[in-house]
Amino acid sequence: MKGTAGPIAPVALSATEVIELVPKAELHVHLPGCVRPGTLEELSRRHGVGLPLPAHELYGRVNSAPAPDEVDRGPWFPLLRVYELICRCLRTADDFARVAYEALVDAHRSSNVVHQELSFSPTVHMADGVRYRDMVDGLVAGLEAARRDHGLSGVLIAAVNREDSPAVALDMVETVVAHRVDEVVGIGLDFDERKGAPELFAEAFALAGRHGLHRTAHAGEHVPGPAGAANVRTCVELLGCERVDHGYYVLEGPEVVPWARDRGLAFDVAFTTSRRALRPWRLASVREMLRQGLRVNVSSDDPALFPTTLGRELALARDELGLGAEEIFALVTNAVEASFLGPDQKKSLLARAELVARGDGSPPGPGAGRPVPGEGPDGPTAPGGAGSGPPP
Ligand SMILES: [Zn+2]
Repeated sequence: MKGTAGPIAPVALSATEVIELVPKAELHVHLPGCVRPGTLEELSRRHGVGLPLPAHELYGRVNSAPAPDEVDRGPWFPLLRVYELICRCLRTADDFARVAYEALVDAHRSSNVVHQELSFSPTVHMADGVRYRDMVDGLVAGLEAARRDHGLSGVLIAAVNREDSPAVALDMVETVVAHRVDEVVGIGLDFDERKGAPELFAEAFALAGRHGLHRTAHAGEHVPGPAGAANVRTCVELLGCERVDHGYYVLEGPEVVPWARDRGLAFDVAFTTSRRALRPWRLASVREMLRQGLRVNVSSDDPALFPTTLGRELALARDELGLGAEEIFALVTNAVEASFLGPDQKKSLLARAELVARGDGSPPGPGAGRPVPGEGPDGPTAPGGAGSGPPP
C-alpha cells in the first residue's frame, strides 16, 4: 500500500491484534461528540436544558443528510445542531473536566488510545456565557485526571467555528493567546465548510502561527469538486495547517493530489459520519486516497454520537478496505507522526507501538495494552464490535 510511512519494524501480529493491542494516538475527535449519552442526560437535567428526545434516542437520530429513502423515517437531527445542544449542557469547569476525562478513558478502553487530541469550540460555549478560562481550566483538570488515573496523554485544539465571522474567529484566537496554557497546543477550523471558506480565517490563523500554535482544519469535507480540493491547499498554504481533517474531495483536484503526496500532507479521516448515506462514499474515497499515495490516519471524529470507536474505524479499514496488519499499523504510526506531540514524545510512543507490533508483549509504562476497568455503562463497545449502529 502506498501513502503510509510503513512500519519501522516487522509486524508479528494479525490485523485484529494490531487494532486491539497497539497503543495509539487519535488526532481528530470533537469534545461534544464524545459526551456519553448518560452524561448528557445528567448535565441537561442539572442545567435545565431541554432535549428533544432522551439522549440515547437523540444520538440514534443524528443524521445530517438523510438519503431519500430515510427521510420519512425521521425525525432526524443534523449533527451540528446536536453539537450545539450538547454544548449548552456544558456550563461549569467541572462539566468540562468530566467530559474530557470520559473522552480519554473511553477511547483508551475501547481502542487502546493513549494520546488524544481533543477539539473544542470556545465560541459556542462563550455564546452561552461560559468564560474561556473556566472551560479551559476544566478541560485541563480532566486531562490531568486521565493522566493521573490511567497514564493517558491528552491535548486540546481550540477550533474556530467557521459559521462565525472572521472577526469572531480573530477574537477567539486572541483569547486563546491571552490565556495560554500548555495543553491548548493548536487551533482548528470546523463546522460547515460551505458556510466558511478557509481564506476568511487567514488573519486568525496567522495570529495563532505567530504565537507558536499548531494548526489544523476541516477541509475537502463538505465542498465537492475542485473547490473542495482547493480548500485543502488553501488551508496549508494560506492558513499554515500542518494537517487536514477529512480532505476526501482532494481527489477531485487532480493537481492537488500530487502536491499533497509530495509534501506528505497528513489527512485525518473517519469512515463513520452523520451523513449516513455517505459512508460507502467515504470508504471508497479513503481507498482511493491510499491508492494515490496520500498519507492517511484514522480517527473516530464523534465516537459517542455515531456511535463508533477508533478500533471500529480501523476494523472497517480491515474489513471493507481489506488492509492487513502492516497496513493498519502504518495508519497507526501515521497518526503518531502527524500528532502535535513533541519529537521525543512521538519517538517514545512509536517505540511503544513497535514493541507491541513486533509481538514483544505489552510495552512498559502506564496506559498501553491493558483495558481500563469499569467506567460505567455508556462507553463505546469493543474494537470491531460496535455492530449496533443507530437505527436506520
Ligand atoms: Zn471532525
